[in-house]
Amino acid sequence: MKENKKGKLYVVATPIGNLGDITLRAIEILKKVDLIAAEDTRHTLKLLNHLEISKPLVSYHRHNEEIKTKELIEKLLKGQNIALVSDAGTPGICDPGEVVIKNCIKEKITIIPIPGACAMINALIVSGIDTKEFIFLGFLPIHKKLRKEKLNEIQQSKKTIILYEAPHKLESTLKDLEDFVKDRKIVLARELTKIHEEFIRGDVREIIKETKNLKGEMILIIEGDKKEKEENNFEKITLQEHYELYEKQGIEKKEIIKKIAKDRNLSKNEIYQKFI
Ligand code: SAM
Repeated sequence: MKENKKGKLYVVATPIGNLGDITLRAIEILKKVDLIAAEDTRHTLKLLNHLEISKPLVSYHRHNEEIKTKELIEKLLKGQNIALVSDAGTPGICDPGEVVIKNCIKEKITIIPIPGACAMINALIVSGIDTKEFIFLGFLPIHKKLRKEKLNEIQQSKKTIILYEAPHKLESTLKDLEDFVKDRKIVLARELTKIHEEFIRGDVREIIKETKNLKGEMILIIEGDKKEKEENNFEKITLQEHYELYEKQGIEKKEIIKKIAKDRNLSKNEIYQKFI
């Protein structure tokens, strides 16, 4: 059988704060590869210095992913072994990685995951919120329409929801979430594995109160919707009660009419008519 001379791509998880979280296998791989592709080479250099590893580094980040993928694939095809790392945690999880991995698959290059820290998993496992089924939505989009779609998805999700957030956007995200997750449990996990690691628990209003000007890296774990679906009971309540149900949730009039129409399988006009 012909020997496969291609190199391998190792996708290596690195610590999310505490350097003690690097695994023995990650160290072994970083020592043995020919090249390390890093999201920020200066950042990774600090980790390598700490581990007393000296290796050639190339940058591989969001803005050069396409070009760098070509270079990395050429090197892999020539037989070089490469480790891919991001600034923190697991590459590909809200971090670059996807493009080179898809291209490796095309070129039949072996890809080996080297497990380790991933912020969302660590926030989830100590959240006390259902871990059986969950959805990871990464960062909420900034674009208004897309953001609204995600907020609706969060409102309707029966599964636990995980969000990443930047500290300077936390306040506006919590404000946006307010109407969509009213009484549901939320855990804000901050600075995981670091000195100021902290978990703030409560409903959205309590979290808003306790997180004014909060700094550091943070994750939101939101309980899924545990209420019985109201739709089943809509026939049993009057239109007025139906309206008040949504009004109490702080939803505005136009949106309420839309929702009622959907719940009752009627047109918006029919709902307006009934109110008149
Ligand atoms: N690839 C990383 C992972 O495996 O979790 C995530 C990278 S993403 C660009 C950065 C976001 O992850 C931060 O904005 C924050 O939401 C979350 N994060 C990373 N490190 C964290 C930490 N130590 N504590 C809390 N959240 C963290």
